[in-house]
Amino acid sequence: MNKTAVRTLQRFLSDQKTYNGSIDGIRGPKTLAAINATLRNHASQLPDGAERWSDRRRAVACLQLACQLSKIEAGPIDGLWGPQTEYAASVLATLQTTGSKPDPWRDRQPTDANPNNWYREAELEQALGSPTRKPPLTVVPCPWKLALAWDLNTCPSGIGCHELVADSLARILSRAHDHYGPQRLRELGLHRYGGCYNKRRKRGGTHWSTHAWGLAIDWDPAHNKLKWGRDRARLARLEYDTWWRLWEEEGWVSLGRTRNFDWMHVQAVKL
Ligand SMILES: [Zn+2]
Repeated sequence: MNKTAVRTLQRFLSDQKTYNGSIDGIRGPKTLAAINATLRNHASQLPDGAERWSDRRRAVACLQLACQLSKIEAGPIDGLWGPQTEYAASVLATLQTTGSKPDPWRDRQPTDANPNNWYREAELEQALGSPTRKPPLTVVPCPWKLALAWDLNTCPSGIGCHELVADSLARILSRAHDHYGPQRLRELGLHRYGGCYNKRRKRGGTHWSTHAWGLAIDWDPAHNKLKWGRDRARLARLEYDTWWRLWEEEGWVSLGRTRNFDWMHVQAVKL
């Protein structure tokens, strides 16, 4: 159970009027007391023996209860932190912060929002010039620690991208950091930075890659290989749904979400 989940739990406890501490993601004595009070109030929904569970397990059970009360399918209240509980907790977090649940992921189409008026691929060369000349690049600092995917001991301070997309990228990184927190981002492999600006042609093609303008970023390439589909690519998993939503809200395009290949790749260019 990570800090984000503890914050979700604390918001629920606060709604239940058993907690008036801060929403800090720390499972301290005040939070624990609130968990115990809340579980007592809903004792009939708990399995036998739940009162003997460890503090950690009771915290997870309380979060599962919170999901159940909001009609979010979290499975039986067993106090065990598995993928279903994790997903349910992320749905509850969205509900708490936006007032509505995210669309069911099975029905979800990537949004085609384009608030920053990103170009289409076919327009790039005319609009931004040929990438034979180096584009104007700027380094956007990353709020969590990055490591080069091919050399994890090297930690770049930020992402060198086209200046056109820098503000948007900074907003996305900041929102991702707020949502997941540095520890969770690391668990998700989102510190494994696969590069942005790269003067090259598309792999297996003759056209310039969007990387040649510094308009695309690769994440965790080792676990999201070019030809892998959603059955293998790590970034296709449920727990990355918010990650991709943050990019799509800014008009960025995930090739994985739209074409089901190259899941490492996201670009500020419309297809
Ligand atoms: Zn790429």
